[in-house]
Amino acid sequence: FREFQVVVLGAGGVGKSCLTAQFVHKEWIESYDPTIEDSYQKHMTIDGRQVVLEILDTAGTEQFTSMRDVYMKNGQGFLLVFSITSPSSLSELHGLREEILRIKDREDVPLVIVGNKADLEDQRQVPRSKAFGISQQWGAPYYEASARTRTNVDEVFIDICRQMLRA
Ligand code: GDP
Ligand code: MG
Repeated sequence: FREFQVVVLGAGGVGKSCLTAQFVHKEWIESYDPTIEDSYQKHMTIDGRQVVLEILDTAGTEQFTSMRDVYMKNGQGFLLVFSITSPSSLSELHGLREEILRIKDREDVPLVIVGNKADLEDQRQVPRSKAFGISQQWGAPYYEASARTRTNVDEVFIDICRQMLRA
């Protein structure tokens, strides 16, 4: 099998830990310690190939940006997560992507943009078209997902996995 490092990035509170837990354990946990950064392993079969994902659920609490440099360097695929209820969480993704491209020193890094909390349609503040425009500009797929209802959770991880297999 092949082993891949996936890094889950995004502003605090967008649902990175909930998405990771839904994918890895198939469980919904309402509340996580926002300061906890941990990694999880998940075995899967994609298009007949066995892969092991090592998923780092980041918490943005690094005291030194050099720590962030290390996981960006080691990461082979990145989930850039925002919340559809928070325009500023989408804005934050620009800087994160720039940092990834700078540290990896290439343009074709496997990325997926995830608009989480899609179950909160009545609180939506980011039009789908806005996120889709950024996705086209970056050449990275866009998914609207919900960790709460487990919508598009597997799809997001399968997509990043396929991109890493191709890279
Ligand atoms: P993180 O800081 O990005 O790791 O965010 P968490 O995973 O800890 O989630 C932050 C808050 O958002 C928690 O209160 C979660 O219950 C809530 N949350 C996470 N994902 C969803 C979702 O898809 N839908 C809804 N409605 N709430 C969510
Ligand atoms: Mg978290």
